[in-house]
Order: sequence, then structure tokens, then C-alpha cells
Amino acid sequence: MTTALHCTTCAASYACDDLRFCCDCGGVLDLRFEPGLDQAALRTRPATLWRYAEALPLSNAADPVTLGEPVTPLVEMELAGRSVLVKQDFLYPSGSYKDRGSAVLMSRARELGVAHVVEDSSGNAGASIAMYGARAGIRCDIYVPETTSPGKLVQIERSGARLVRVPGSREDTAAAARHAAQRTFYASHCWNPYFLHGTKTFAYELCEQLDWQPPEAVVLPVGNGTLLLGAWIGFGELLAMRFIERTPKLIGVQAENCAQLARAFAVGADDVTDTQSQPTLAEGIAIAAPIRGRQILQAVRATGGALLTVSEIELRETLARLHARGFYVEPTSAAAIAGAAKWAARAAPGDRIASVLTGHGLKATDSIAALRGAPGRQ
Ligand SMILES: *Cc1c(COP(=O)(O)O)cnc(C)c1O
Ligand SMILES: [Zn+2]
Repeated sequence: MTTALHCTTCAASYACDDLRFCCDCGGVLDLRFEPGLDQAALRTRPATLWRYAEALPLSNAADPVTLGEPVTPLVEMELAGRSVLVKQDFLYPSGSYKDRGSAVLMSRARELGVAHVVEDSSGNAGASIAMYGARAGIRCDIYVPETTSPGKLVQIERSGARLVRVPGSREDTAAAARHAAQRTFYASHCWNPYFLHGTKTFAYELCEQLDWQPPEAVVLPVGNGTLLLGAWIGFGELLAMRFIERTPKLIGVQAENCAQLARAFAVGADDVTDTQSQPTLAEGIAIAAPIRGRQILQAVRATGGALLTVSEIELRETLARLHARGFYVEPTSAAAIAGAAKWAARAAPGDRIASVLTGHGLKATDSIAALRGAPGRQ
């Protein structure tokens, strides 16, 4: 099988060095790619994302754009009276798991000779792409909604990227970036499938840390679904290579205030049917129109999983509990943990459950401070 881009809507396919971000028909592109990894070779490799080099769709994975992406610790946490295994992905260089995707995508961009990219995000993906752009010497224009946390804006600017603040909704920001992408390489975490082939390392690490005995369920936050879809690709590849014998149930968690996918899941729809949403504390997953919505629903259903919602009160309480236990994460990170607690309460007793902390609290000091009033006041 040759590595190629292929459209998820029509049958078209394109060479994997094509710089386009979508199909001529407007459809989302996936990457056809077959990893060839030798399990025994892993034993002697350093504990970084690059230990899975042969599973990454790069021409030269030995010379990546890297800031030193660690295999993230897997820590036990008690939720709803059960032990849940939680990957500490907020410990990544930019402070969020987005670096898994950015490291691979920007390595690929450099291989393709790309000198300038555009990206849009609610903050973390933009900060991550900007940092890897700085490392690679690739110019970045990062489009963000005007309401993005100041900490993330500073992070983007300090990396030397051009920051474009767009008034209106997250979808307005996406539209502005897509317009700019007509002329410049679109390093989109949502559209570009190389990003998902970076986030898939979440599944590789989790399975290897558990001696290739995956848990019964993996609970992940879902906005654009880049972690969930990456995990889906990763578990699928591990299954195909016979590293694991079954795929865990994928449990996606959305904020009740922005729960298009959970609503579509509940009524058995194939795709998102409405874009109604309210603001939420979980700004990182406030995505009213996920472009890979259809794929997310397919992946969750194929594993026998579920899409759960958590309320603003649950988000606040879970965040407070995380902080009180020493896990200083940003508010969006509370979503997956609140969802994991719900799943833990209803899963079969022997089932092992894994989840993730996705973003660092130091990125969102202002919004965390606002939850409890000014510092020093109760
Ligand atoms: C991006 C992000 C998410 C959700 O990722 P999606 O790809 O939108 O599903 C969750 N938590 C944090 C901290 C993020 O930055
Ligand atoms: Zn197409």
C-alpha cells in the first residue's frame, strides 16, 4: 500500500506530498498509511514519542522537528470510588497534548519544504503549532477568537507567530483561516491528517505502558476530536499489527453547553445536525461545527462506546477537586475527568478505565482566578 491522501466523501485520492488541505469536492482527507513497527526494537529506545518512528508517516522520522516530546506518565486517580489511569498530557512542551500532533505535522511540513503556514484554534493548537514553527524555522499565522485566554495569546506571540484575532465565534475564526489557506499551507489540526497521526501516539503509549493489555474504556474530551480520532487510528493500527487483541471502548466527553456530537449520538444521527451552543468553561472543546463529526460518531459507535455530556457545575466541581489533589490543569481538562467519573459509576466492576489530562493550568490563570474571585479572597 502506498501512502496517499484519500477523500472521506468521494473516492478521490492524492499523492501524500500534495499540499492541499481538502479534496476538490470539499471533503476531509485521511491518510492511507501502514505502519511497520517491531515491538522488540522498542525495548532499547528513549521514552519519547519518536520511539514509534516506523509508525509515523514521515520520510525521515530520525530527524524530526522536536522539543523533546516525552512519553507522558500514567497516574492512578480515584474517581467515583474506582481507580482510573490518567495520562498526564498537560506535561507536554507547550502545555497541552496538541504537541503530539504538531510535532508530526510540522516535521512533515518541513519535509515538504513548506516555509509558511496558517492555523486557527481556540488557543492551544495555535500555541503548539507556533512553538513547533519557531523550532522548525517555519513562519506561522495563527488565527484565534478574540476571547482566547491571554496566557495562550502571549505564548503564540512570544513564539514569533503572527497573531490574528478574529471577532465573533470559533467558527468565524475557522472561516478566516480557511480563506487565508487558499494561498498558504494550512497546518490545521482539524483538517490535516498528519496531525492525527501524531495524536495517535497517545494510544501507542497507553498500550505499551499497560504491557499491550489495553483498558476496557478510554475516556477522552471531544471538540474537534483530534485526540479521540488519533486514538482510534492508533488502536486500529496496533490491532492490525497484532500488538493488541481488541480496541477499547472510546468514550467522548462534551460540555453540555456545546454538545452537538453527544446529541447526534443520542438520536442515532450520522453527523451533527445543529450548531446551537452556549459559552462553556471548557473553552478547548467549544466546537459547534466539528468538521470530522461524522468520523467521530463512527469511531465511537464502532467501539461500542458513548458520548457523554458534563454540566458547567460538574466542570467547576471537578476542576476544583483536581486542583485540590495537586493536578493543576486548565478548565477544559476537567471535562474528560468529570466524564470518566460518570463512566466509572456505570462500567462493569472489573473494567479498567483510562483517561487524560489535556492542558496545563498555568495557561489559564485568569479564568481559574475568575472562578474564585481575585487571589487572596475566598
Ligand atoms: C484541543 C483540546 C481539547 C480537545 O481536543 P479536540 O481535538 O478539539 O477534540 C481538550 N483539552 C484541551 C486542553 C485542548 O487543548
Ligand atoms: Zn472528495
